[in-house]
Amino acid sequence: STTSRSTSASTARSAALMEHARTVTPGGVNSPVRAFRAVGGTPRFIASAQGPWLTDVDGNRYVDLICSWGPMILGHRHPDVLAAVGAAAERGFSFGTPSENEVALATEIVGRVEPLEQVRLVSSGTEATMSALRLARGATGRSKVVKFAGCYHGHVDALLASAGSGLATFALPGSAGVPASSAGETIVLPYNDVAALEAAFAEHGEEIACLITEASPGNMGVVPPAPGFTQALRRITREHGALLISDEVMTGFRCSASGWYGVEGPYDEGAPDLFTFGKVMGGGFPAAAFGGRAELMGLLSPDGPVYQAGTLSGNPVATAAGLATLRGCTPQVYDHLDRVAHTIADAAHDALSAAGVPHTVQWAGSMFSVFFREGEVRAYDDAKDQDTEAFSRFFQAMLDQGVHLPPSAFEAWFVSASHDDEAVEAVLAALPIAARAAS
Ligand code: PLP
Repeated sequence: STTSRSTSASTARSAALMEHARTVTPGGVNSPVRAFRAVGGTPRFIASAQGPWLTDVDGNRYVDLICSWGPMILGHRHPDVLAAVGAAAERGFSFGTPSENEVALATEIVGRVEPLEQVRLVSSGTEATMSALRLARGATGRSKVVKFAGCYHGHVDALLASAGSGLATFALPGSAGVPASSAGETIVLPYNDVAALEAAFAEHGEEIACLITEASPGNMGVVPPAPGFTQALRRITREHGALLISDEVMTGFRCSASGWYGVEGPYDEGAPDLFTFGKVMGGGFPAAAFGGRAELMGLLSPDGPVYQAGTLSGNPVATAAGLATLRGCTPQVYDHLDRVAHTIADAAHDALSAAGVPHTVQWAGSMFSVFFREGEVRAYDDAKDQDTEAFSRFFQAMLDQGVHLPPSAFEAWFVSASHDDEAVEAVLAALPIAARAAS
């Protein structure tokens, strides 16, 4: 039933917390999109979560369509993950020595993602892409990096140019504080444009260490690779001796049961040279990874000359959460995600159509987003050409009815294995009202 949620909810405690937070933390938040700047209103301070539900400090309940921006694929406080975390914490929080969970998690990841031979664990997606970049530069002896406009790979200096995610939300081209020497090593190209790629490699091919791409972009909204595009990335990088890095921080273990979303098959048939993972593989704790062929990974310290390290890398509690989460990601879970995502996306499409709101729904596996514009989105310029004000009205109306979407028109909507009929029905009930608010 939808009556258990409050439409005229008080947000007094969240508002008071935000006011205080602003005095001790820039913008009151520890990651910019959480501040609700694009959509307006009071960010909800979440007190607890269970399954698909968030409860804020004022006691309001929301269906969670953020899922921590991807990690909570099994839902909040999944019993197996909770038990694994509790057991690990009982044994100690961090040792700074090798421990068994790290080996188990690495084995699980390498076992799932067919081309992977080795991974190294780190604590965030940003660290994973930063380290993969260094490894690519160390392996090739080259310095330039190619990325696509609208792809977000964390807040690494060289990768912030024309990034999606928060930079799209705030319409920023990049970031102050990135030296020109660093930004100058980055070549930014439009996504899904093979001709632009050919031209850039024809001009700079011998200086390019690597091309990094989201396996399917999700940080400008979901923009799947056009047929043949990912294969072209492989062909062109290989022709020029550059490495291909597939950033699977968002897509990894979410978009498909095989764990990854790139071109399936062994290395010599199109797999990327390096992968980065995060989000799902940490189960809501800080764990991420980068990996590839053993020969390439062997260039890392202590065996090789490329340095990389971390006090909390392979943290025993985080790896326990990640391991339990990945083990919980069964084929049935992916079927469920698919079903729930399609039910919600279809209903959003119907509601927006009925209200006459221009929109486009796009997919990568069970990951989807709704663009508030008409027509296919193939690249960042298309994604930016949407009615963000209509999205904001839609977002607020959903929130008022107890559904917490990502507070930006440039983000995927995330679902989990725990989104049951009650949660889905609450979303379906809210959609027509929100669609009318957006129109
Ligand atoms: N790469 C991709 C594709 C991402 O979506 C993100 C985060 O959203 C990152 C990298 C950075 O990960 P983190 O926020 O854990 O540093």
